[in-house]
Amino acid sequence: MAKPTNLTNGHTCCEHHSEVPASLEAREAQIAYHFSEIMKVLGLDLNDPSLRDTPKRVAKMYLRELFIGLNPENEPQIRLFPNTLRYHQMVIEKEIRVRSVCEHHFVPIIGVAHVAYIPREWIVGLSKLNRIVDYFSRRPQVQERLTEQIADFLQQNLATPDVAVVIDAKHYCVSMRGIQDEASRTLTYSFRGAFEQKDIQDTFLRMVGL
Ligand SMILES: [Zn+2]
Repeated sequence: MAKPTNLTNGHTCCEHHSEVPASLEAREAQIAYHFSEIMKVLGLDLNDPSLRDTPKRVAKMYLRELFIGLNPENEPQIRLFPNTLRYHQMVIEKEIRVRSVCEHHFVPIIGVAHVAYIPREWIVGLSKLNRIVDYFSRRPQVQERLTEQIADFLQQNLATPDVAVVIDAKHYCVSMRGIQDEASRTLTYSFRGAFEQKDIQDTFLRMVGL
């Protein structure tokens, strides 16, 4: 392990970051340092007033916005309510905004998720479904994993095996680089429990307009 050196911005750093610092502030400083190194390699002038604080801004954005879903403390707390109305049809929350980042290229994945569940003894506050999608989106992701993680979490936390997730999203790694296809979108789905049955699946897909 290389000897730690004290960096200009005041935090100690070493060549190989085998340990991630515990505090948010220390991690922010470390990301800012490394991002400033990338900017230097790109030939950007870090003394330019417009660029000077970019490393800090990027670090803050990563840890406090785009990637808050990497911190288990931000996992949504699910409270269930007794299903006293005895509602046993599907509950659908559609067009939930998905804002994620592709883990292969670190560019945005922007789209919508449609999620549904069929309540048994318990129902959930609807905004929790949006929060669940948001939590798993806000980390470097691939859409296939995101879809399955949301479905797993719904099954584990909504006291029902009957859940469905569809994600319809645009990948900026497809539109801005590589094949540069502006129009294409990626659809993924996970149908669990009763949603494996064709009639139930068809009803869900019709309700979300697919
Ligand atoms: Zn990508």
